[in-house]
Amino acid sequence: MNCESESLLEIKDLKIAFKTPEGIFHAVKGISLEVGKREIVGIVGESGCGKTVTALSIMHILPDNSVATGSIDFSGIDLLSLKENETRETRGRDISMIFQDSLSSLNPLMKVGRQIEENLMMHTSLDSRNRFLEVLDIMHKVGLPDPEQTYKKYPHELSGGMRQRIAIAIAIVCNPDLIIADEPTTALDVTVQAQILELLRKINRESNSSIIFISHNLGVVREICSIVYVMYAGHIVEKGPVNKLFTDPAHPYTMGLIKAIPKRDSKGKELFDIRGRVPSIADSIPGCPFEPRCDYAVERCKKEFPGFKKIANDHEARCFLAGDI
Ligand code: SF4
Repeated sequence: MNCESESLLEIKDLKIAFKTPEGIFHAVKGISLEVGKREIVGIVGESGCGKTVTALSIMHILPDNSVATGSIDFSGIDLLSLKENETRETRGRDISMIFQDSLSSLNPLMKVGRQIEENLMMHTSLDSRNRFLEVLDIMHKVGLPDPEQTYKKYPHELSGGMRQRIAIAIAIVCNPDLIIADEPTTALDVTVQAQILELLRKINRESNSSIIFISHNLGVVREICSIVYVMYAGHIVEKGPVNKLFTDPAHPYTMGLIKAIPKRDSKGKELFDIRGRVPSIADSIPGCPFEPRCDYAVERCKKEFPGFKKIANDHEARCFLAGDI
């Protein structure tokens, strides 16, 4: 969190495990993070690092076989201690989520305008006329053409970019304090991606909502976030202001993610890929989880996982060599 902003969300020592017939698997292993009011905070990492599971825990929509411990303080309320009926109040009104794949997150059998209106029915006392007008207004705000006609369409009748705008309209119609955008531009082409990023920036500016922006692409995160948390194998391994992460990355994993961002002149060239793979949640790792993929690993890294090392007041990383590479 930026030291000047007031805190909205504070996660402390969050651990999430899944009980399966094969045993208990730990997907998130004690992470802490903060989001300030009106801030856009990025969580970045490859698939399988625990980003989405963290988001689902904030929304209180983890699968039944999961156990979450630690605390998620949202404006003074510990979300983890709420009962299901209490979280239903919060979800959609105070905290909302935009999913990556709008085709599967939208109801294929319901007109898109009606899907936006549902949130208003659940969380406001507006009558049907005013709800309808509010839906047209929000459709206009997210840049959907001809709201009255678009209201009547089904998801499959819209382009990917328009569907994502509907998903964003659903998320913001009740003016939530926090929006979680989970890979919201991954399925879109670059032009539509740029438009959606601009729309999220506009929402942040005009409605004062804070945003948690989840992505595997540090390049996209750089476009929109002020603070970034880098996640790897269920841990946060680096955190800091986005510019510092780019100019002075301290963890070899962050360095790899930066190297993997496609450049303008990379057309026709082979793109950089961090060698190896993200460990499975079933793997037991005694030392630093990045050690098998790390070019800087030393013997000690096989046995010990370091705590955070401070690079600056607002920048730290979990690597023995942080600040020295
Ligand atoms: Fe690499 Fe060791 Fe740092 Fe882990 S602790 S990132 S293995 S140098």
